[in-house]
Amino acid sequence: MLKHKDKLNEYNFVPVLIFVNLQKLNLDIMKRSIIFILIFTMAFFACETPSTSNTEQEEKKPKNIILMVGDGMGVTQISAGLYTNGNRLNLERFKTVGLHKSYAFDNLVTDSAAGATAFSCGVKTYNGAIGVDKDTVPVKTILEIAEEKGLATGMVSTSTITHATPASFICHQKKRKMHQENAADFLKTDIDLFVGGGKDHFEKREDGKNLSEELRKKGYVVSDFFQEPINDIKMDPSKPFAFYTANTDPVTAAEGRNYLPGVSKKSVAFLNERGKENGFFLMIEGSQIDWGGHANESNYIITEMHDFDKAIGHVMDFAERDGETLVIVTADHETGGYAINKGSKMDSLVTAFTTDYHTADLIPVFAYGPGAENFGGIYENTAIFDKMKKLYGFE
Ligand code: MG
Ligand code: ZN
Repeated sequence: MLKHKDKLNEYNFVPVLIFVNLQKLNLDIMKRSIIFILIFTMAFFACETPSTSNTEQEEKKPKNIILMVGDGMGVTQISAGLYTNGNRLNLERFKTVGLHKSYAFDNLVTDSAAGATAFSCGVKTYNGAIGVDKDTVPVKTILEIAEEKGLATGMVSTSTITHATPASFICHQKKRKMHQENAADFLKTDIDLFVGGGKDHFEKREDGKNLSEELRKKGYVVSDFFQEPINDIKMDPSKPFAFYTANTDPVTAAEGRNYLPGVSKKSVAFLNERGKENGFFLMIEGSQIDWGGHANESNYIITEMHDFDKAIGHVMDFAERDGETLVIVTADHETGGYAINKGSKMDSLVTAFTTDYHTADLIPVFAYGPGAENFGGIYENTAIFDKMKKLYGFE
């Protein structure tokens, strides 16, 4: 700073000399003044511009954050998706790539509950924990904090919306299998939008409650796949919105499920409108990349990867236009110990698996938009929460 000031003083002295020298030329006072102003302006910007733009870059904060989680999406899943898609993915549009350490508090190999709770709450917890710490104490999630601060919030998933990954952003339960309890937790916040499977957990309940009716009483538009095709829905930003894509788990992309890209695009527009004052937080999950890994089915992984990448494409189209949105794409863990072996060709992969469960691989993190540069390097999975919270400016 001091060094910069000295330099400025030096430059201030120069225009005086220039003005004096200009007097020697036979120009009238008007022309001399114009030339003097031009030279002075150039000297001023030559000195000032670099430091101003540095400051701007340092202070650039996102208004909106979209966190996209490809469940079970390790580097091999991405590679397989890439090679079988003409060697291109929308993931290549990201400028910053980092790696996170995916392990859980009690196990080097995490599950999706502890993995998502690391992102949502910033704590390392035990496998199976939904929005609670290692001692089962509930921790406020990034979605809940965003909601409290007046941002619009939403989640879109290709599993049940009460499944471990989305549940960890809004529910607080000791065990991941508590779908009915998780569904009830959706009424404890004012989440603006959710789309996913699991209608039964809201409507066919042991406690006899109809949570969809309770959501309607709270002002939500609640709809489902029986009433209208998901890809035809219009989301009215004047009301909060809930949509069930299945009674239980949605079908696979190979079986015709294709809502994730279109709903991601509509959800971004919906939340951008509802969050035009304070911004928004959206979590989008490509849930079934993981299920392809558990099934040890390469084609299942690949079709789910392509579906998720299309959703990434729509989100990136928005973020590139918008300029105020940070997009983060990552996974909770790798699934299957998936490998691409010798004999593979670009469009016909020879693959193998080492397990039907998750592995402890480092996991890639892709970031784009204001603050993206914070996501390069290697860090704990919990740092994703810390970085999002800091970039939002939440204390
Ligand atoms: Mg999941
Ligand atoms: Zn899994």
